[in-house]
Amino acid sequence: MRSSKLTLFEALVAETAACRRCPAMCGRRAVLSELNGNLDARVMFIGEAPGRQGGDRTRIPFSGDQSGRNFGRYLASINVGREETFITNSALCNPRHAGTDANRKPTTVEVANCAGFLRRQLELIEPAVVVTLGAVALAALKAIQYHQFSLRENAGSVLRWGGRLLVPLYHPSPQVLASHRREAAQLADYRAIARALRDNS
Ligand code: SF4
Repeated sequence: MRSSKLTLFEALVAETAACRRCPAMCGRRAVLSELNGNLDARVMFIGEAPGRQGGDRTRIPFSGDQSGRNFGRYLASINVGREETFITNSALCNPRHAGTDANRKPTTVEVANCAGFLRRQLELIEPAVVVTLGAVALAALKAIQYHQFSLRENAGSVLRWGGRLLVPLYHPSPQVLASHRREAAQLADYRAIARALRDNS
């Protein structure tokens, strides 16, 4: 028998596929499907937006590009398999600079447009632990339940947010690794996920 969770998820997927709320994203498909992960996951990762060479191409967030390879390595370092997780983005469509193929950050309006979909994913998956990857994802949560956390103060900490545990992490992109959070520090930050999962078992 089909679970009601799966039925609700499929309805959400259909809505996101038809969504045209962000004019600059028209013609692109939202990256949300069963490939995003386990609907019963205890941990949900939220990134910024699918990258052109990554999630937008593979349909799997954080795969197929260097950010995805870094993320996979960090996840493996705490013995968490992708099949145990659900991975999504603050903006479900790939943002690009006008007239080029270069990725850009989603605007605050685009993230706000997608906040209702993020809220519904959280309500559906009901993860015990939410992990944000980067400042955009951490800020996106404010539309769901306001907080005053920042990466500078709170990266790698286990916090309480919205009735769940929240672990804010830096984005695993090569640019962030080179400029803001090196590999060793990122690996140390990921241990907070293992702590949060242990605290919630
Ligand atoms: S980013 Fe979200 S709100 Fe914007 S068009 Fe895509 S699915 Fe719709």
